[in-house]
Amino acid sequence: MHIAFIGLGNMGAPMARNLLKAGHGLTVFDLNPAALASLRADGATVAQSAREAAATADFVITMLPAAAHVRAAYLDQDGVLAGVRPGVPLVDSSTIDPATIRALAVEAGKRGNPMADAPVSGGTGGAQAGTLTFMVGAPPDLFERIRPVLAGMGRNVVSCGDTGTGQVAKICNNLILGISMIGVSEAMALGVRLGIDANVLAGIVNTSTGRCWAADTCNPYPGVIETAPASRGYTGGFGADLMLKDLGLAADAARGVRQPLFLGALAQQVYQAMSQAGDGQLDFSGVIRRYLDTERAA
Ligand code: NAD
Repeated sequence: MHIAFIGLGNMGAPMARNLLKAGHGLTVFDLNPAALASLRADGATVAQSAREAAATADFVITMLPAAAHVRAAYLDQDGVLAGVRPGVPLVDSSTIDPATIRALAVEAGKRGNPMADAPVSGGTGGAQAGTLTFMVGAPPDLFERIRPVLAGMGRNVVSCGDTGTGQVAKICNNLILGISMIGVSEAMALGVRLGIDANVLAGIVNTSTGRCWAADTCNPYPGVIETAPASRGYTGGFGADLMLKDLGLAADAARGVRQPLFLGALAQQVYQAMSQAGDGQLDFSGVIRRYLDTERAA
């Protein structure tokens, strides 16, 4: 199958590489020339626009930062919808709000293109290893059609319901993640300050009731998990600004149904402080620096 892949960042580039490994033909587009050059070296064809990438494709995937980028990539005059052939399925794997994907699916439908949301969890490690979880919002026939391609980039491809429900699942997962990372940071920093070794504490937590992904896979304390961003200066993971965006999506969605998010709102303020301190590009587990480095946290 020939696939157009648009958005080759921390997540998109390794996902696209896995599609090449799975034997698909690939045309890519990104605004960043360095990202394009890297995929070209791996065997992908480079397009000059999203429109050009989509024109020859049997399948289109986008992996972009936020809703504004997704709207631009599909609706601009050089966007996907201007070039894609009718009937070709469109899949957006970015994390955005459910309303935007539902509106885009209506626009795509007018041109005869079915569209699904398929946001992911598993981070950059999962993107590289091809072990992502895809949370898919699509009618059953479209889900069956796109599942084999997504399976080339992930271990779990889960149907969440109709268009937009993949984003609902993703937003709720990241609400838990954003809050739990702050909880783990708070406890790890406190434990070390009170005299316990960080590795011993993490070992206890990870065989006890405090265990969670933030503690056992992405522990924020440096040196506890060798492969975690904390052990490489909080680089190369899930940026705090992206977490801030996701908590904003949860807050907006909750406002729409008049549900309070007590801890979600607090977590949003904590990551906002991290972003204001100039650390928004760091992995969100760097939030522990608010506790470890009292000068920075002040
Ligand atoms: P990123 O910022 O690393 O990459 C985004 C890429 O999109 C960049 O290369 C940028 O140049 C490109 N881009 C922006 N606008 C474009 C346009 N109009 N046309 C073409 N290219 C464009 O972001 P990322 O970390 O890869 O995340 C992508 C999405 O996945 C986000 O919605 C994020 O919330 C979500 N996500 C990220 C992670 C993670 O661990 N990084 C995990 C799960 C989900």
